[in-house]
Amino acid sequence: MSEKELIKCSFCGKDKKDVFMMIGGLNGHICDQCVSQAQKIVEEEYKVRTDNKKIQLVKPTEIKQMLDEYMIDQDEAKKVMSVAVYNHYKRILQKSNKEADADKDDVEIEKSNIVLVGETGTGKTLLAQTIARILNVPFCIADATAFTEAGYVGEDVENVLVRLLQAANYDVAAAEKGIVFIDEIDKIARKEGDSPSITRDVGGEGVQQALLKMLEGSIVNVPPQGGRKHPEQKTIPVNTKEILFVCGGAFNGIEKKIARRVQSHTIGYTNPTEELEVDRDNLLQYISPEDLKSFGLIPELIGRLPVITFLNPLSRESLKRILTEPKNALIKQYIKLFRIDGVKLSIDKAVLDLIVDKAVEYKLGARGLRAICEAILTDAMFETPATPQIKELHVTLRYAKEKIQRSSALNRLKAA
Ligand code: ADP
Repeated sequence: MSEKELIKCSFCGKDKKDVFMMIGGLNGHICDQCVSQAQKIVEEEYKVRTDNKKIQLVKPTEIKQMLDEYMIDQDEAKKVMSVAVYNHYKRILQKSNKEADADKDDVEIEKSNIVLVGETGTGKTLLAQTIARILNVPFCIADATAFTEAGYVGEDVENVLVRLLQAANYDVAAAEKGIVFIDEIDKIARKEGDSPSITRDVGGEGVQQALLKMLEGSIVNVPPQGGRKHPEQKTIPVNTKEILFVCGGAFNGIEKKIARRVQSHTIGYTNPTEELEVDRDNLLQYISPEDLKSFGLIPELIGRLPVITFLNPLSRESLKRILTEPKNALIKQYIKLFRIDGVKLSIDKAVLDLIVDKAVEYKLGARGLRAICEAILTDAMFETPATPQIKELHVTLRYAKEKIQRSSALNRLKAA
């Protein structure tokens, strides 16, 4: 028998002649198949070990600092959110590090899903999105008004997770540690006077019920392409226990409910020295779960959203700062867009004031800023790429006013 025939893989025992390659070591051999098998095992183990390390526990003060780079004002919301997010990820890490955990007690840290209350365009979405970016976790936005309770025409609540899976490139483990922003949560509130047993409204309470399990944490079978589930369809099980849900809503008129509650608590208060001084110009700061309940969210849902905070309407000054200061400030973006075409863009200070005035007029918060900038700059962005001799564009007040006046997009906005 020749020496060649004697060589066998020390791992699987295959003969050299039956494999593509045999690698020799000091005291044995390994075949190519066992090498690739071993590599897979190493990669999987590496992934398991690093997945947990990947979540970086960023301190609340650091989260807040980073938020400040992208967002103007809203200090209270930033602070509350930083702490909630920190606690949420601390909870995840603690769970996965059970062995290393020094205090093996029975205390289980509960999930800290969040409600953000604030007018449209005050930065609710931006806040959730920026947090996800800071932590480098998958993020998606869903609109609560698109949901329907099972059995009705519309989107099943599970479809939120389809988006999250897509944001995570179908890496289920990553998606399971992501952040979901559910917008317009106030629109599924039970209408005043609704009786749940009589009016099975398509939105409203049924949807709130459908959301409960997902928010709390359960295994949800998600159709990978979205749409309605049907029996033959393959689904991906996604555990929502460690997904952070942030719900946002304008809750129009909730100040009245807050006022009523604050008033009833302060009336008849016997000790005037301890009496709460109520700041009636900013009632949102007193928002409590009770107010969400009087607005029409069901107690079970409120119970699964233990952290509540608010975003203030943006002042003129804040809107102006939003235009130029944040890392991603709109004006910085336009300057970059023009620079790519070799054009130096500059804008009169008075134009910035005009943009803010118009944004206030349209009552769209910071959301209006973009539409107004587009109205002013669209013509220039259309023409300059085809006119290489243009090297500089200076936007004067007159130019801006004229563009705003002629903008059909803005006129539509005004009419709406
Ligand atoms: P909301 O979700 O409250 O309706 P968004 O977060 O979608 O508002 O904000 C709308 C637009 O305004 C976004 O482009 C966002 O970047 C900008 N914006 C809103 N609030 C702020 C803020 N406080 N600082 C910086 N930009 C903001």
